[in-house]
Amino acid sequence: MTPSDLAFDQRHIWHPYTSMTQPLPCYPVVSASGVELQLSDGRLLIDGMSSWWAAIQGYNHPRLNQAVTEQLGKMSHVMFGGITHPAAVALCRQLVAMTPDTLECVFLADSGSVAVEVALKMALQYWQAKGERRQRILTLRHGYHGDTFGAMSVCDPQNSMHSLYEGYLANHLFADAPQCRFDEEWNPDDIHDFSHKIEQYNGEIAAVILEPIVQGAGGMRIYHPAYLREVRALCDRYHILLIADEIATGFGRTGKLFACEHAEIVPDILCLGKALTGGYMTLSATLTTRQVAETISNGDAGCFMHGPTFMGNPLACAVAVANLALLADNHWQQQVQSIEAQLQRELLPLAAMPGVADVRVLGAIGVVEMENAVNVARLQRGFVERGVWIRPFGKLIYLMPPYIIQPEQLTRLTQAIIAAIAE
Ligand code: PMP
Repeated sequence: MTPSDLAFDQRHIWHPYTSMTQPLPCYPVVSASGVELQLSDGRLLIDGMSSWWAAIQGYNHPRLNQAVTEQLGKMSHVMFGGITHPAAVALCRQLVAMTPDTLECVFLADSGSVAVEVALKMALQYWQAKGERRQRILTLRHGYHGDTFGAMSVCDPQNSMHSLYEGYLANHLFADAPQCRFDEEWNPDDIHDFSHKIEQYNGEIAAVILEPIVQGAGGMRIYHPAYLREVRALCDRYHILLIADEIATGFGRTGKLFACEHAEIVPDILCLGKALTGGYMTLSATLTTRQVAETISNGDAGCFMHGPTFMGNPLACAVAVANLALLADNHWQQQVQSIEAQLQRELLPLAAMPGVADVRVLGAIGVVEMENAVNVARLQRGFVERGVWIRPFGKLIYLMPPYIIQPEQLTRLTQAIIAAIAE
């Protein structure tokens, strides 16, 4: 990329959460292969981010490339209204098989945020069909579910865009976030506020939505499975639908195929995205039970009211099918376990360093929380100079590498974090 390309980018192109007048630096990547991103000046960076939880198989994978190419030779897209195709059927068959038995109806959507919109709409239409006016969603502080309006309305009210869109966002209910850590002894007081809210607003609540076990963009908080078990039990007691947003945690990232398995619970609605296509393209899926699907379909509307143009995109479905096959063939559990053990060995000692508030590891996720917010631009420059791609936010410096990362590559990432903190 030329300096003129970069100047054009800076002047004309929005990047995620980035100012158009004082943008953070943007690094030009021209190709990627395995766990390395190549900058336009030829430098290679070891990827610690999996392109935001997505590229679990690394980049430019021959089997994923082949799946896209083969599908491209047949058709890249066809409308899903009144038409079906082999890639969508193969993918949904696989999703139904790999998720809990009760989740058997799949809605394919375009992105994680849209999967959340779909889940919320399912919950609203479900109660409407049952003749009850339940329109509030109970969720957790520190949660994050996406950037569209429905999704934003259930993100943490402080640490999000709530204040910007106040008056426009739906007024939902927020329970205190879990405090009890994953590996601590369970403290039953932790569920008190949630339990109180669900009881108090019971007749108004359509659904609970949460990120199971790991609250991601809202702070990379890893909480106790008993919290999730209690939530499931309370939803059962009050007959409230439970939506698990596994868009970030799904497909092995936390050491279980789905994070709900840590608590041995099954949601009524499950949102998947990100790693679904191995990070190749955008696709998400919202799964639900036959009972929810039938109740919605037997309501006045007669159907579920959603149907995006690119629903069930064949290219995305084909690469997702190949990605799920690769997940099994690569023995993801061993990959994630060895990443977890190495992150524990190499990151946990950082807790003793000055300026570090906390270190936590679960599955292929390693988080170093600093006492103060970091200077993202400066830290990132240092990481790039050390040949790694790590993008901190707020007080958090964290890793979620592709599952195929080799031990020496992972050490490059952890060493870069240690060097950055020491500086
Ligand atoms: N839910 C969770 C838990 C997420 O982490 C994200 C993305 N960071 C989303 C939803 C939204 O997904 P997308 O960015 O694909 O819209």
